[in-house]
Amino acid sequence: MEIVLAKTAGFCFGVRRALDLVNEALALDKKDIYSLGPLIHNPGVVDNLSREGLVEVDDLSKIPCGRIVIRSHGVGPQIYQQAVLKGLKIIDATCPFVKNVHQLAVLLHEQCYQIIIVGEREHAEVKGVLDSVNNDAMVINQIHDLDGKFISPKIGIISQTTQDIANFQTIVAHLLEYAKEIRVFNTICLATSKRQQEAAELSKKVDLMIVVGGKNSANTTRLWEICRDNCSRSYQVENSDELMSEWFKNVKKAGITAGASTPDEQIQKVLKKIMKYRG
Ligand code: SF4
Repeated sequence: MEIVLAKTAGFCFGVRRALDLVNEALALDKKDIYSLGPLIHNPGVVDNLSREGLVEVDDLSKIPCGRIVIRSHGVGPQIYQQAVLKGLKIIDATCPFVKNVHQLAVLLHEQCYQIIIVGEREHAEVKGVLDSVNNDAMVINQIHDLDGKFISPKIGIISQTTQDIANFQTIVAHLLEYAKEIRVFNTICLATSKRQQEAAELSKKVDLMIVVGGKNSANTTRLWEICRDNCSRSYQVENSDELMSEWFKNVKKAGITAGASTPDEQIQKVLKKIMKYRG
């Protein structure tokens, strides 16, 4: 069995930066450091950070004092204001590409465009962008989410950074039928689009695809969906323990890719285990 590991598999710039900032802060002092939600969508990494001292909370009110880490997904202005009012020190690990989405949303809002965000309403990144425009935006994930909705003749479209480019293009093309003026910012980050492109190409050439990453990671799930469209034997695993030997029966060529929050060591463990399945 031939095994091909995608070149783009693993940590992206934004996730690496967030981890570096937190590790630096923990090295200075392990006490009173909190993240609002899991720092990254990878349970193994989050467990390690928790052992080091990073405390995960789901609400700012649960932070008594000390430092708050803003994750790479970013948050809206309300969280910054509340953190300042509580006297917390902010460690801002918001990915610069996500900051850019916030800035563009505010620009479109100021210029009175009806804002359409292509993304997942419940995703932390999208919630932060919504907050930056006082929730005055529509979030859609698929074309049918537009059914029955009022569409203004003047629309501004932005995207969650980890969206699938093909879905984004389809929605933009569809909206052209309704609006007189459309301003489109392709805010899908380059790391994401390259990773998705490579996954799409690789999954067309193999008998089986393994996508490594947290089940709570939107970008990993998106990768798996892209692979599954080209290769019916596509599986998402969080770690090597989830691999099943029977998946590899009669497989001549297997591909591996991984989400932006998957550490190299997890990918290498998956690779090593798959190598053992070679006859
Ligand atoms: S996927 Fe892109 S936008 Fe998201 S954290 Fe990584 S580099 Fe930043």
